Amino acid sequence: MKIQRAIPSACAFVPTMGALHAGHQSLIKIARQYCDDVAISVFINPLQFENKDDYEKYPKTPELDVTLARDAGATILWRPEVTDLYPDSPKRISSGELGKLYEGVSRPGHFDGVLTVVNRLFELVKPKFAIFGEKDFQQLFLIKDMAARLHPEINIVAAPTIREESGLAMSSRNVRLSDSGRCDAEIIARALNTANSENSITTARRELRNQLNNSNFKIDYAEIIDSDTFAVADESTTKPRAIVAGWIEGIRLIDNAALTLSRNENLVRL
Ligand code: AMP
Repeated sequence: MKIQRAIPSACAFVPTMGALHAGHQSLIKIARQYCDDVAISVFINPLQFENKDDYEKYPKTPELDVTLARDAGATILWRPEVTDLYPDSPKRISSGELGKLYEGVSRPGHFDGVLTVVNRLFELVKPKFAIFGEKDFQQLFLIKDMAARLHPEINIVAAPTIREESGLAMSSRNVRLSDSGRCDAEIIARALNTANSENSITTARRELRNQLNNSNFKIDYAEIIDSDTFAVADESTTKPRAIVAGWIEGIRLIDNAALTLSRNENLVRL
């Protein structure tokens, strides 16, 4: 493919679906710390949308994307066509059992689609580094696993979640929220903070769910998992993480946060 030859191999690579915001820009800035050549792709991958309406309504801001990518330090922006990535029948990558949990319950086939496109992008771009956001923690986890098996030469770099001042995690989908929907969405970060102020996994899980249930956020799942294995966390888990997904105004929103839980065995909260 011609375009792909214009991308220097051994670059740092930031795959996106466009409608760029400061979260994407932070990934580009991190990429620049690894390489002078930073390639960003913008491709709304049909294989990862199980909902046609969501695919068709996915926000598109092509001109702003160029400005934001350039300002953040990207050196190449690539917008592949479907036929560039999937000439015949694409090599499908399975996301296994974890791909069927959490996001995978409401979005069957989603992670198979994500892994299939990321594998294809990696084959074509051959980057040295690829940067992904912790905002999509299950996606990051599955991509790290896929890359370790199929692309061990690529270093996967995790980037922290960038938030609005209100705490709302930045997302291309946020532009579809009304003003009041945006206010309602602030409960997600507040509930994650509350969970983090608890001193046990059990109370963190309970308070996370309580807060979200008493809001306009329609919960899909709210769980505490082990960041290293994605297993449901228990009191012995050393790296617990709260993961949350649901809907406001029919818009799917997801978020997560590592929990530092103020565990103190001599002090029991009653
Ligand atoms: P997307 O365009 O939504 O597919 O996202 C492209 C990349 O940007 C993924 O690695 C996301 O995890 C990451 N990303 C999206 N939102 C944020 C955010 N608020 N902070 C950091 N990274 C993000």
